[in-house]
Amino acid sequence: MPDRVPSVLRVALPLPLPRLFDYLPPRGVAASAALVGRRVRVGFGSKVLVGIVAGIDAPDPAAGTLREADAVLDATALFDAELDASLRWAAGYWQRALGDVFATALPGPLRHGEPLPDTARAVWRLTEAGATATPALRAGTRPRALAERLRAGAQDEDALAAWSPQWRTPLRSLARRGLVERLWTTQPVPGTPRTPPPVLGAAQRRAVDAVCARLGEFAPLLLDGVTGSGKTEVYLAAIEACLAQGRQALVLVPEIGLTPQALRRYGERLPVPVHALHSGLSEGERARAWTAMARGEARVLIGTRSAVFTPLPQAGLIVIDEEHDASYKQQDGFRYHARDLALVRGKTLGVPVLLGSATPSLETLHHAMGGRYAWLRLSERAGEAIAPQVHVLDVRAQPLVDGLSRPLRAAIAACLARGEQALVFRNRRGFAPVLLCHDCGWHADCERCDSAMTLHGRHTLLCHHCGARRRVPPACPQCDSLGLVPQGAGTERLEQALAAEFPDVPLVRVDRETTQHRDALEKHFAALGDGAGILVGTQMLAKGHDLPRLTLVAIASIDDGLFSADFRAGERLAQLLIQVAGRAGRAALRGAVWLQTHHPDHPLLRTLLTGGGYHAFAAEALAERRAAGFPPFAHLCLLRAEATGQAELDAFLAEAFALAENAFGVTRHAPMPAPMPRRAGRLRAQMLLSSPQRGALQALLRELFPRLHALRERKKVRWSLDVDPVDL
Ligand code: ADP
Ligand code: ZN
Ligand code: ZN
Repeated sequence: MPDRVPSVLRVALPLPLPRLFDYLPPRGVAASAALVGRRVRVGFGSKVLVGIVAGIDAPDPAAGTLREADAVLDATALFDAELDASLRWAAGYWQRALGDVFATALPGPLRHGEPLPDTARAVWRLTEAGATATPALRAGTRPRALAERLRAGAQDEDALAAWSPQWRTPLRSLARRGLVERLWTTQPVPGTPRTPPPVLGAAQRRAVDAVCARLGEFAPLLLDGVTGSGKTEVYLAAIEACLAQGRQALVLVPEIGLTPQALRRYGERLPVPVHALHSGLSEGERARAWTAMARGEARVLIGTRSAVFTPLPQAGLIVIDEEHDASYKQQDGFRYHARDLALVRGKTLGVPVLLGSATPSLETLHHAMGGRYAWLRLSERAGEAIAPQVHVLDVRAQPLVDGLSRPLRAAIAACLARGEQALVFRNRRGFAPVLLCHDCGWHADCERCDSAMTLHGRHTLLCHHCGARRRVPPACPQCDSLGLVPQGAGTERLEQALAAEFPDVPLVRVDRETTQHRDALEKHFAALGDGAGILVGTQMLAKGHDLPRLTLVAIASIDDGLFSADFRAGERLAQLLIQVAGRAGRAALRGAVWLQTHHPDHPLLRTLLTGGGYHAFAAEALAERRAAGFPPFAHLCLLRAEATGQAELDAFLAEAFALAENAFGVTRHAPMPAPMPRRAGRLRAQMLLSSPQRGALQALLRELFPRLHALRERKKVRWSLDVDPVDL
């Protein structure tokens, strides 16, 4: 039967449509299975798109004449068998078109059809003249320091950049005199200088041994260690063991965890160059890191969420630092969870996946308690550091001035007087979260969102949800009163108040406004110096840096998080509190944590701060989740929808609700407005599906997803399925 001969390319195109598109191969190319996994350029309507051949098939007799693909762009498949299988799994599990998933997995230039980049890296070494001249260079100068460094071995430009952001100046000075030369290489540079590892504590040693014992097979392991217990040292030792077996390691870190300081720490301790992949890099740099891993030239990659899509042809170990962190979940487009995909990849690759956290997600803890994950614990801080002391300050009896009570000001003053540093945490940027009329109760709301506008400075109102901006009105628009008062304190107000009270010490504010550039955090910490000083900021301060002189953590308020309706709010708040508190006293100096609250008797605070800490909280929260039928005891999918008209929105969700009736025993909850029913002028609503069985929910979604695409209303409605949503 000649018409059964496979002659058609089934192409995954970067479109949100849950189907493949058929093309004939370009003229002169046979439609063989060898084309699967390669990119092709095709015409689609009037556009030209780059897709990936997902399969070869016989022509569908019902289809009309097919277009010919313009060109095959690769000589071999871009994804190896494991990555291809994992991406197909991801598309199926998170209900996303395969072409969209493939496109997300590729760095920009590859997505747009460019060839695989050249991965040779520039490496600098001393010339013979340089080796002879080094001792004669003037001592204490930067060229001398750099030459000394290169004397220990050649260095690539990443390593030099990690050494000093201003590395080019001394390098040029040496190059002008012919003392250094540049080579291009794809090989790891041997002899990168290393700092020796500390002697591991007994618990750290046990954890490393447990990971090493599982190298070569899939094993999920939870490294559950209090902040400052030396988890990173465990990762480093396990990575070294993985490298010694000739294998590659992938390390995922949260978005704001990948600071130059963190990169430097890995780079200086590992015997191979450490490659990075994060949003601060150019597209070209990202494509190079991806390709270097695909070619096996790079041995260690450290990256944020999307690094989970990197090919690992010689995989040995995957590490996920701060596994509970919300930034691992992509919150728009392809809503995948990098931790969960990493676990699937680890299983397919047959390598251990090491999940680290001081505050593990309830899902992960539940697996550890059930024995499905190995549970490695580090319950003490490393070195000499000891756990901080916690004070809960009941501010119902304490007048707050600019968000700060008198006892807290006194504690900060005492900390500064000892020459130490204080961190003042408030998870709200801006001057004040609300601008209120003292006479009639009017407050400034966004015109396009169901939300208050935040006061920034004296004159600007800003909506943190849609970005709308307007000037503060001269008088109350409702009653003409001049008594408009800022309510509450954001980071900006705290900064002003503290600067006025403690004018003699350095003070830096760390929030989204002051910290846009990737190096900004580093600069802030440098500006703080190593004597007395104050840091004010949002959750950006909750992780990362080791500040040995930081002994006081003051939590100005978390009360707005205590009463959220979201079932995950308690977990997130507990994690944030423990992580922020964990910044205090990480070195030899004992730390203290002060929490201002109007609700000192709130059960979450009692359990967390005066009871058994995070694990006691987690046990209670898990019991509640079990009783209420929430994850990890049930599996959820949220259908989110938004439209400009209420009627379209309601009609879409009503049809979706009807379609979700099923034989799989999945509970469909009636559609309801989103927690913020109006945002940026669009109306938002949602429908929740839940089931105690993951498989049942998945079976329903496989049927529902294409049917939703076929709905008539879908054109007027923007919708998405969020499988395992992290907020409801
Ligand atoms: P975590 O990642 O658990 O917060 P880190 O790995 O960053 O902890 O370690 C916290 C601090 O303790 C770091 O300054 C680190 O260098 C130090 N440290 C870790 N392990 C040891 C050890 N075995 N001996 C001495 N210091 C250690
Ligand atoms: Zn008024
Ligand atoms: Zn708005």
